Amino acid sequence: MTTSAEEFDTIRIENVGRRFGGTTALQGFDLTVQRGEFIALLGPSGCGKSTALNCLAGLLPLTDGSIHVGDQRVDVLPPEKRDFGMVFQSYALFPHLTVEKNVAFGLQMRGVSRSETARRVAEALRLVRLEDQAKKLPGQLSGGQQQRVAIARAVVIEPRVVLMDEPLSNLDAKLRLEMRTEIRRLHQTLGLTTVYVTHDQEEALSLADRLVVLRAGRVQQIGTPQELHDNPANWHVADFMGYRNLLEATVSADADGQGRVRIRADDLELVGTAVNPTAAGETVRLAVRPTDLVVQTSQSAAASPVNTIAADVEIVEYQGRDYAVEVRTTGGRTLHVRSDHAPEVGTKVLLTVDPSRALVYQEDLDTATT
Ligand code: ATP
Repeated sequence: MTTSAEEFDTIRIENVGRRFGGTTALQGFDLTVQRGEFIALLGPSGCGKSTALNCLAGLLPLTDGSIHVGDQRVDVLPPEKRDFGMVFQSYALFPHLTVEKNVAFGLQMRGVSRSETARRVAEALRLVRLEDQAKKLPGQLSGGQQQRVAIARAVVIEPRVVLMDEPLSNLDAKLRLEMRTEIRRLHQTLGLTTVYVTHDQEEALSLADRLVVLRAGRVQQIGTPQELHDNPANWHVADFMGYRNLLEATVSADADGQGRVRIRADDLELVGTAVNPTAAGETVRLAVRPTDLVVQTSQSAAASPVNTIAADVEIVEYQGRDYAVEVRTTGGRTLHVRSDHAPEVGTKVLLTVDPSRALVYQEDLDTATT
C-alpha cells in the first residue's frame, strides 16, 4: 500500500502524558492533526497547554504515550530531528544577529547552500513583509516586527509542523489583532500544519480549524470553533467559550422526549436543554451566553411567556456595535446580557432565552471528549 502525502504528514498524538514529580501536567492526550490543519490548544493558565506543545516539540520528554508523524515515531527523536518550527511568546531571537541572519540560521544548521539560503531567507522575509528590515538587529525592531522575524525563522526551514506558544501575548491589543490576521494569511498561503497555544478564546476561534480545550491536564473537548461555541460538552468549556451566565440550579422536572428539562435557580423557573442526562432533584449548571438573553420590548414580551426573567438594569456599557448590560434578577442574581439597544439604568426589563440556548449541564462532569 502506498502512503499518500496527507498520511505521510498526519500527526498522531496517542495517550500522551507528562508528570512533574507528583503533578500531572498532561494526561491521556489523544489527537490526530491532518496535514495543513490549524489546531489551537486552549485553556486557562496551568491547564497543560505549554506542556503539550513542549512534548510535541521534544523540549520535554513524555512520561506516557507516543507521537507519530506519518509512519515515523518522533517522540524518541531530539527536537532538531523532528523538523518542526517553533515560535515562542518571547520571540527568542539572537540579539547580536541581523534579521536575515536570524532567519538564515536554521538553514545554515541544515547545510543548505549559500545561494539557496539567500533565496529562501528573502522569500520568508517577503512573506512576513520585512524585506526592508533585513539588515537591522532585533533590538531595532518593534515587538510585532520581532515576532514576524520569529515566524519567518520558523517557516523558512519548511517544517512539517509549526508550533506556536502564545506568540501574540507580548503585543498590545492593536498589534495583536494585526498579527492575528498576518498569521491567518500566512497559514492560507503556505498551508502549514500548525499547533497554536493560547488562553485567548477569541484568538483560538478566529484562527483555528479545530480547537482542543484543556483543563487540569485533560482534554475536555475537541471540535470546530462553531461546535465548541454552540455546543460546549461541559460547563467548564461553556465557561471558557463565553457563556458568562453560569447558574447553579436544581432540576425540578425530568427531561421530556426532546431533552427539554425544567430547572429552578432561586426565583427563576426555566426550561432548558439537557446536554448530559439529568434527573429531578439533581444540582446542575445552567449556561447561557449574553447574546442569547434577549431584552424584550413591551410588545414582544407579551408574545413570549416561556423563559421570561424580570430584572433591574444596573450597568450599561457601549461596546461599539452593541451594549454589554448587567442586570439583577429579583432573586439577586447578576446576569450578563448583550443587547443591540441600550435599556436605561435603574429600569425594569424582561429578558427571554430560547430553551434551546439555555444549556443544562451535570455539575460534576469535567472530562467529556468528543
Ligand atoms: P500558562 O498558560 O500559564 O502557560 P499552561 O496551560 O501552559 O499555563 P503548563 O505550563 O503546561 O500550563 O503547566 C501545567 C501544569 O504543570 C501546571 O500545574 C504547572 O505548574 C505544572 N508544571 C509545568 N512545568 C513544570 C515544571 N517544569 N516543573 C513542575 N511543574 C510544572
